[in-house]
Amino acid sequence: MSIGCRRGSDARYLAALALALFFLPPGMAWSVEPLESKLGFNLFSVREDVQFGKESAKRVDEAYPLVTNPQVLHYIDELGRRLASLAPNNSSEYAWTFKVIDSSDINAFALPGGYIYVNRGTIEAAENEAQIAGVMAHESGHVVMRHGTHEASQALLAQAPLAILGGIFGQPGSLTAQLAKLGLGFGVDSILLKNSRSAESQADEVGTYILYQAGYDPHAMAQFFEIIEKKYPQKTIQFFSDHPVPENRIKAVDSEIPLLGPAKAWKTDSPEFQEAKKRLLSLPAPPPTKPAPSASAGSPGTPPAPSSRSIKFDGNGFSIAYPDNWHVQRNEDSVALFPPGGIVNVAESGATQAYGASISRFQPQNSGQGNWRLIAATQELVDTLRQSNSNLRVIEQKAVNLKGRSALSTLFETDSPLQGQKERDLLVTTRQRDYLFSLIFISPESTFDAYKPTFLAMLQSLEVH
Ligand SMILES: [Zn+2]
Repeated sequence: MSIGCRRGSDARYLAALALALFFLPPGMAWSVEPLESKLGFNLFSVREDVQFGKESAKRVDEAYPLVTNPQVLHYIDELGRRLASLAPNNSSEYAWTFKVIDSSDINAFALPGGYIYVNRGTIEAAENEAQIAGVMAHESGHVVMRHGTHEASQALLAQAPLAILGGIFGQPGSLTAQLAKLGLGFGVDSILLKNSRSAESQADEVGTYILYQAGYDPHAMAQFFEIIEKKYPQKTIQFFSDHPVPENRIKAVDSEIPLLGPAKAWKTDSPEFQEAKKRLLSLPAPPPTKPAPSASAGSPGTPPAPSSRSIKFDGNGFSIAYPDNWHVQRNEDSVALFPPGGIVNVAESGATQAYGASISRFQPQNSGQGNWRLIAATQELVDTLRQSNSNLRVIEQKAVNLKGRSALSTLFETDSPLQGQKERDLLVTTRQRDYLFSLIFISPESTFDAYKPTFLAMLQSLEVH
């Protein structure tokens, strides 16, 4: 489903938030020093972070091709160590290790304990050293704030309090195997990599701090994230799924910088960076991207079955529960919830959703301002969708009741981005103030029935306010 339609903007909401930030006393909005007290709830020790990281890194190394060029590795290792040495909450136990994945996708991630991976595409997309330093400083932030094991701890507390009481983690055997026993994934598609937006803000905060201490322009990190999101939307899907975009990222970072100390003559680039980038660009093209290996993958290319455990997603004006093995991607004016492999690349239109749910707000143009009727506005949305999905055919439309709200469900079929396949979509619309709230469930026709129970459970959990 290609969802290229007009939608309402979040401008008013953002303006209100910006105002709220503006009125916070400066010392309250950001303060870097007492970061120790901001460490989240964690069941694990730093030593266990390192053990998790080591075990997961082994899987990553097996699953992904790595760049082996010694000059590039030396450069990244030297830069990474210099930045990590300036991180707050650093511990001599962290096993700072930096590797470059041979992929043109723009991505970077940190496993617990200091194992940081940067994709070749990220270095190639960076314009200067400060930008790549920003990415690595941000990832170091996830390490020293221990976000991976914090997320795992919260999931464990929610799902397996008895196992914790029973001391499962005191038993011999690998920690990741024990996590897996409890149904929590590991490796590249792991809970250890799923950061919340508040964790992102914190990693931004730490990353900015590190950049300042290292003498780089501290604006470079948030600016680079913004550049890649706009310039390379198809290459950053995984990055922004593992690193959801915090609200007002740039504003938050900008307001932190004056608190760090006086402005310096910032360093932005180095001949070493340009040399490393040149070397990467001259290497043979990376192998085609493999789908991320998953603990519960079905047949090749097919997303794993939706997990029966769900997570609640709080959006702007709505909340919905979705399977906990799905990803979330927040775009400027929509949210995509999808299983691993649920977004595919199509030559003409780029990243296109083939499985999952897409939620957005649509501003009807012709159905009468503020007074439009649900059916007419839905028709307008369907017509808009038809512009980018020419074979769209409505199968059935009926009125439904959504917790006391009148809503309309529209079942339609169109071409799937998966070659040669038809797609079935269930569109649910309801009025939300002056907008049309729209939720589309998406699946190839062949699996629509299998996804139906998941879609219905999600619909039942939906709250629009
Ligand atoms: Zn992050």
